[in-house]
Amino acid sequence: MAIPDEDVAQVRAATDIVALIGEHAALKRVGRRWSGLCPFHTEKSPSFSVNAEEGFYYCFGCQASGDAITFVRETEHLDFVDAVRLLADRAGVALHEDAEAGKDRKRRTELLDAMERAVEWYHQRLLRAPDAGPARNYLRSRGYNGQVVRQFRLGWAPDQWDALATSLKLSERVLTDSGLGFVNRRGRAQDAFRARVLFPICDPSGRPVALGGRILPPQPGQRVPDRPEPKYKNSQESAIYSKRRTLYALNWAKHDVIAQGEVVVCEGYTDVIGFFEAGVPRAVATCGTALGEEHFTLLRNFARRIVLAYDADSAGQNATQRVYEWERKHEVDVVVAAFPGGSDPGELARTDPQSLARAVKEARPFLQFRVDRILEAGDLSTPEGRARAAESALSAVAEHPDDLVRDQYVMQLSDRCRLDASRLRTKLEELRAQPRPVAHEKKDRTRHETPEEYRDDAPAPDDGYFGDDGFDAAPTPTRSGPGLEALKLAVHRPADVAGRLQPVLFVDPLQRQAFVALLEHDDLHAAIEAAPPEVSLLLRRVTVEEPLAGDPELGDPVELVVMVLLREAVRRALGDVEKQARGLDASWQAGAAETAEVRLWLAELAEPASARIAADRLVAWLSERESREA
Ligand SMILES: [Zn+2]
Repeated sequence: MAIPDEDVAQVRAATDIVALIGEHAALKRVGRRWSGLCPFHTEKSPSFSVNAEEGFYYCFGCQASGDAITFVRETEHLDFVDAVRLLADRAGVALHEDAEAGKDRKRRTELLDAMERAVEWYHQRLLRAPDAGPARNYLRSRGYNGQVVRQFRLGWAPDQWDALATSLKLSERVLTDSGLGFVNRRGRAQDAFRARVLFPICDPSGRPVALGGRILPPQPGQRVPDRPEPKYKNSQESAIYSKRRTLYALNWAKHDVIAQGEVVVCEGYTDVIGFFEAGVPRAVATCGTALGEEHFTLLRNFARRIVLAYDADSAGQNATQRVYEWERKHEVDVVVAAFPGGSDPGELARTDPQSLARAVKEARPFLQFRVDRILEAGDLSTPEGRARAAESALSAVAEHPDDLVRDQYVMQLSDRCRLDASRLRTKLEELRAQPRPVAHEKKDRTRHETPEEYRDDAPAPDDGYFGDDGFDAAPTPTRSGPGLEALKLAVHRPADVAGRLQPVLFVDPLQRQAFVALLEHDDLHAAIEAAPPEVSLLLRRVTVEEPLAGDPELGDPVELVVMVLLREAVRRALGDVEKQARGLDASWQAGAAETAEVRLWLAELAEPASARIAADRLVAWLSERESREA
């Protein structure tokens, strides 16, 4: 299953690492590198860096580092070969691997191709076909003009059994595996979508991976079918589509989400489009599943504020505990936007577009939203009503894991319900002391018959690609200072340091090993691959760090760094020489003569006219001394 080295190198070269990582984290250009919040550990200020030219990333917080292949392995949980295949797919590089492995890759490409062709076919059908007239009328009635239809590549699946299957001539296997169709009981190919308006669902880079379909509202005089079809229907999961990891419209919303640091999560595709139309182009929707852990791990890399644009009280009831957990774990703020009178965002986009932006701006913290909802439902005009409302609001407050947060709500309740805060605190402690078993929550979920759209099938809490949160404490693997600066120059300005930097100048053993690795290999990738792990980690780190810029006051950084390093190395060596000389009477004279000369050169370093010659002599002396000792 091996992939030839030339192919791997070609895949690396063909991969835009900034675009690749940009699908998981927001990156900003800083000088020659890119920087952002680390997708591998939770942090508030960016310590993650990418060097686009060399194709490496490095995190100063958790030391996660590597190239495009490492990144894909870590984020997609793939082995090396699969990671290379995935990148080859993206970059359109053909790999020379064995037949079986090649088949796998080909299959994925086939499915993506089929999905792309289907999306385009359905789209053209909606734009042009006479039978799509009712669909166009419906969309127009929802306020969608041609520009919206094109922007979101909406489509129309005609009211026929096999229009797509026969038009695209897809093989039965591709039709079935892509979820675009199936083989019916009579052994004939049949389309999965029929008489539906289609919303293509894309991966973050914009490739269609699935479809969501909505039936048209019944026409006047239309017979109501005996077995009504569900209003929405989504593609089944496939090799290219996992609903737990997919957010509708993230590919279109990404830009504004990053720019605003905020993402609006809706319930449906039409709500998303409504937000875009109302001038809030940072809305996404889950695809037939509730917002779960994996959605959070995806979103937190793009935005810190997650606005739930749906009735969080009914939809999020079961996920309440987890919302607090995720808020804390991923350091995001989950807020809830309230819409007047139970109207949905898709509707409001037409009737009152400004209200959408306003609702997002005025979104309240998750717990505040729940408390308000409870108090609004209660009767606060009587003492009995206020006591009941306070008690039921307290049980919502009790679920919050942070005692400082809880206490602020206690004071708020005390104020709004005119009750003594200390009495409320006692009550709250009683509520928190009551066991709230997890099993009970599960039972609840099935009993309430949660609709498919809201059903929460979030994975186990640890199922994400962050791993352990203990990362932050990892020590920096090497000392900073001139040695590190020199390494940066050796990586970023190899031509300028050629002949100027020598291994003897590095006092720190790790930095020296890294420098030697650079000398011994033709290019950075080869050096990083061949070096022992701690050395290659250091090299990856300096790859994403900017070397010092030139400064008119200080002169060229190469010169500066060489001088500082040289002085440090010479002083250290002089100390050693003197120490040894003191112990050996016979060589004392020779030692003294040697050190006197070295000191003279050291002094000459300060004179611009003689500095270069003195430096060369000192380097020669250091090297010679070292070989003498070895
Ligand atoms: Zn990190």
